[in-house]
Amino acid sequence: MTAPLRPAEPITVNVALGERAYDIVIGRGVLASLGQRVAALKPGAKAAIVTDETVAGLHLAAARAALAAAGMSAVDIVVPPGEHSKSFATFEQVCEALIAARIERSDVVIALGGGVVGDLAGFAAAVVRRGVDYVQVPTTLLAQVDSSVGGKTAIDSRHGKNLVGAFHQPILVVADTALLDTLSEREFRAGYAEVAKYGLLGDAGFFDWLEANAADVFAGGAAREHAIATSCRMKAAIVARDERETGDRALLNLGHTFGHAFEAAAGFSGALLHGEAVALGMSLALEFSARHQLMSMADAERAVRHLAAVGLPVRPSQVADVPTLDVLMDLIAQDKKVRRGKLTFILARGIGRAFIAPDVDPRDVRAFLSGKLAAHDNG
Ligand code: NAD
Repeated sequence: MTAPLRPAEPITVNVALGERAYDIVIGRGVLASLGQRVAALKPGAKAAIVTDETVAGLHLAAARAALAAAGMSAVDIVVPPGEHSKSFATFEQVCEALIAARIERSDVVIALGGGVVGDLAGFAAAVVRRGVDYVQVPTTLLAQVDSSVGGKTAIDSRHGKNLVGAFHQPILVVADTALLDTLSEREFRAGYAEVAKYGLLGDAGFFDWLEANAADVFAGGAAREHAIATSCRMKAAIVARDERETGDRALLNLGHTFGHAFEAAAGFSGALLHGEAVALGMSLALEFSARHQLMSMADAERAVRHLAAVGLPVRPSQVADVPTLDVLMDLIAQDKKVRRGKLTFILARGIGRAFIAPDVDPRDVRAFLSGKLAAHDNG
């Protein structure tokens, strides 16, 4: 169900990074103010909108109209949808198109799309003419609460995801929550895993609130804005403390080590979306924490219950083509590099109390996963 369009004050969250500080503007209908906001930051700039074919069909006209209303001219660069667009070939096309459109350092790149477009356009903006400013206009829930904030940009290498990229902060993020109305329920739900992640990693009160209000977040009313703003505030605070992930920022990887192994085993295909893998990974990380007496099993089960209640996978048996234990352990070791025989995981001492555990014994992980996969075989 879609909430009616209503005029409401947008919520602004600042990412406090000194000279690279920027605002995230969140609200239903804020896309209409895009041109005015960009023109205020970059008077006289031309814009290049990078988007994918699906988003172009749904929201490009509105983005163009918003820029035109502020007197900004814009060219479009449209790429195919999907992870395959984070390739060297598409990256080259985007860079060449930006140069052909004479986008200069005084101009601006606008990334209109999900995390794929944000990562691709952001990386092109980082390197074309040694760096052009860019604005994120995230159109998936995952992009609104996670990938559009924090300045990580990248494309994929044949050796793995996100291996070629740069830190390049946007100058503005405009998150119009109404754009999510056209998102499939499955994609929305996958993004919700990242919302729940913020509660689980650092804000037990927010997790309580999500348990009570998840249906309203899905329905698209004011609860959706609150959930997105709360998530962005937490991401902004963590990024402001640790822009380049030398410490605390790793907490954002809760669920990602287990999740990444299942995602990689599924070949980063539509069979298992990133957020679905994160939900499964968080469930495993919390259960692993409880098994090792770091948190109560009751809390771990409560977290898993909520993720399952919104329809996210929480057990390996819910994934098609479950990888073998050896494959999973190889993928985990590749992802995290074994240091002095130990693995680094994000574990938790309770709901909202995640921490970086740099000394996890791979044998414990193996024993734990072996039990989980056996449970799969038995039923
Ligand atoms: P995505 O960009 O592929 O979008 C998912 C699908 O939804 C696509 O088919 C897209 O065309 C479609 N879509 C987008 N907006 C829509 C809308 N409003 N209505 C209808 N359809 C719409 O995927 P994603 O989940 O947004 O992002 C995943 C990517 O984000 C991955 O490449 C991942 O590596 C990256 N990521 C980056 C960061 C970061 O910090 N930079 C963080 C997390 C994830």
